[in-house]
Amino acid sequence: MKRDPLNIAPTISRTADVLLPLALDQAYSYRVQDNIDLEAGDVVSIPFGPREAIGVVWSIDCSGTKRGDNLKLVKEKLDWPALSAPMRQFVDWIAAYTLAPRGMVMKMALRDPTQVSSERPRIGVQVTGIEPKRPTTQRTRLIETVKQGGNHTKAEYAKLAHVSSSVVNSLIDEGVLETYELNTRQITTELDPDFASFELSDDQREAARSLSAKVEAQTNSVTLLEGITGSGKTEVYFEAISAALKVGRQALILMPEIALTTQFLDRFAKRFGAYPCEWHSGISEARRGRQYHAIAEGKIKVAAGARSALFLPFKNLGLIIVDEEHEAAYKQGDGVHYHARDMAVVRGKLENCPVILASATPSIESRVNAEQGRYTHLKLNSRYGGRVLPDLSAIDMRVNGPKTGQWVSHQLETAIHETVERGEQVILFLNRRGFAPLTLCRTCGHRWQCPNCTAWLVEHRFRHSLVCHHCGHIERTPKQCIICHTADSLTPVGPGVERLGEEVAAKFSKYRGVVLSSDFAGGSERLREELAKVAKGEFDIIIGTQLIAKGHNFPGVTLAAVIDADIGLANGDPRAAERTFQLLQQVTGRAGRGDKKGRGLLQTYQPEHPVLRAILSGDTERFYREEIELRHQMGLPPFGRLAGLVVSAVTHIEAENHARSLARAAYGLSGDGSLYADISTLGPAEAPVAVVRGRHRFRLLLKAPRAADMQGFIKDILAKAGPAKGSVRVLIDIDPLSFM
Ligand code: ADP
Ligand code: ZN
Repeated sequence: MKRDPLNIAPTISRTADVLLPLALDQAYSYRVQDNIDLEAGDVVSIPFGPREAIGVVWSIDCSGTKRGDNLKLVKEKLDWPALSAPMRQFVDWIAAYTLAPRGMVMKMALRDPTQVSSERPRIGVQVTGIEPKRPTTQRTRLIETVKQGGNHTKAEYAKLAHVSSSVVNSLIDEGVLETYELNTRQITTELDPDFASFELSDDQREAARSLSAKVEAQTNSVTLLEGITGSGKTEVYFEAISAALKVGRQALILMPEIALTTQFLDRFAKRFGAYPCEWHSGISEARRGRQYHAIAEGKIKVAAGARSALFLPFKNLGLIIVDEEHEAAYKQGDGVHYHARDMAVVRGKLENCPVILASATPSIESRVNAEQGRYTHLKLNSRYGGRVLPDLSAIDMRVNGPKTGQWVSHQLETAIHETVERGEQVILFLNRRGFAPLTLCRTCGHRWQCPNCTAWLVEHRFRHSLVCHHCGHIERTPKQCIICHTADSLTPVGPGVERLGEEVAAKFSKYRGVVLSSDFAGGSERLREELAKVAKGEFDIIIGTQLIAKGHNFPGVTLAAVIDADIGLANGDPRAAERTFQLLQQVTGRAGRGDKKGRGLLQTYQPEHPVLRAILSGDTERFYREEIELRHQMGLPPFGRLAGLVVSAVTHIEAENHARSLARAAYGLSGDGSLYADISTLGPAEAPVAVVRGRHRFRLLLKAPRAADMQGFIKDILAKAGPAKGSVRVLIDIDPLSFM
């Protein structure tokens, strides 16, 4: 890189305010030499303290009024995609909304140019058409992977197909694969908007036409695309993507991370003749770096990604789709606490492009926005091809429960036999990872607790360990009790998917079963493979956590059973009912997506609970009506706004004291007649999980009408209470989804 020497003093008439990708809110002023051509959005290197740093020019001032001699000079402008004006507004908007420092938000939109390794020539492989002499499973898997395209390197394909590099090399030697040099352009593939579209049903066509018209209008709009599972939402929004391609604009598809299945990518490729650009933590840094450039240059037309994809530097964004918009996974739980669905709506506004929110079970928020006319509401009311929703019924565990230590009732057992004997598949859903949620000593009653958190350790029998699901603490499962030293006295309490797997293996030994959860051995790629096998019918009984409930299309599944439908209804979370409703709808929606009718069974101890009644009755509208009415009465989102302040510290007393001073400040500021009189403060209360990672936690909950200035209130509280001292930290969570 060429540097301008600093010892010359050319004439200076401009200053630049530069934002750094650090937890700082403020931009710093630098002088700009006249011979540098600089604009807002440019990425520059600047002196910062004793070192050199990277930053983005947030504004340029040409008035010459800020000409202090104490200002340092911008070192140079880097050859790196500039952040567009809408992108800079987006960063400012999110920072103002979440109260996170602007620099921290900007960091999500910037890849560090200094981190990019010098580009070595990269060698890709492609198929030649020659068949392998010995088609082993590994070889076949590799060839299939390469055929899927994507312009990966040899090493990347080996990793994707879970084979060693020698398998790749031997196929090259045999002439089955050939190498070629990859350049940046080749990470982009041509998408054909008319490659292969389905004949749409009448209501699909109408929805597709309406969405395409919005894309062609090239102005902002928000549409809630609601349709029961299997109604063809994906096919319909593919038409909107096709429209975006035809007008020469880019499209972004956001999905909860795990939904980025090969199934979805394959479907996309069948529709558009090539794969979309994938963006999530599973993609290598180097590849993401190249994709970042290609997106900024407008060469990549469609990106599909997890929530971080929302910050990609599209040159010409013409459509944003948020699939499964109700998913809690869209909320980022650390760093900047943003909700990707809500921020997608904001980005759509700033980019002046349409936004589509798709779901079978929309969030109450989006439902209300649609009903109040802020969003267009499109509904697909029937399953494609006249397929019907599964018949649902409850199994009352109070009268028909299994033996203690077992979780599959007799009724369910019979239903499983019937289903598998017909050659169909069964899903057993239990939203608990591991073997058992609690382990105790049979002799002395000792319960294994996390040393860092107020939480029981969860036994993971495959890994022979006890694990904390809050902080990740892991220890080997002891052979004897650490208190009374009795050998083999450990007893699991309650079910996890692994334990259910054991029971199923014992009861149905001749069926092929699989247990799937996010801690599946082998990581996310193996998991994707197992999900693909499920789709192909290679397992009879699929046991899993919420991971199997999401977005997959398993045509052979005709029975979906929920082992414990009551989990999640008991906690004091205002969204508990909504979340349980969505999850159970989704699980039971997995059944009967193929040609045969499906069946859903819910094991429950409280079949009369309103949420379960709503699901069993199939009267979704009633559930929404009642839940919306309840939220309305209680002033809960979206009728009111919530914010959480979580105070944590190394000691209980430090955390409690600071939480109390925040509360005092809040009460003082929201007195009668004050600016914030309509905002109420609840707490401080010790958090339900009182200690996490050795930090004691207290919570305050702020509740306000929609129009109130929640952010102003919080800023004033923090200012009035004074800075947090010692180990105290305050976390601000606007629109919290978690209350733990
Ligand atoms: P959703 O996203 O609403 O759950 P999908 O778009 O996944 O629904 O559609 C469910 C299944 O029905 C998929 O296998 C899809 O390919 C198929 N399907 C939907 N619409 C059509 C159509 N018009 N023609 C052919 N197959 C369709
Ligand atoms: Zn822990």
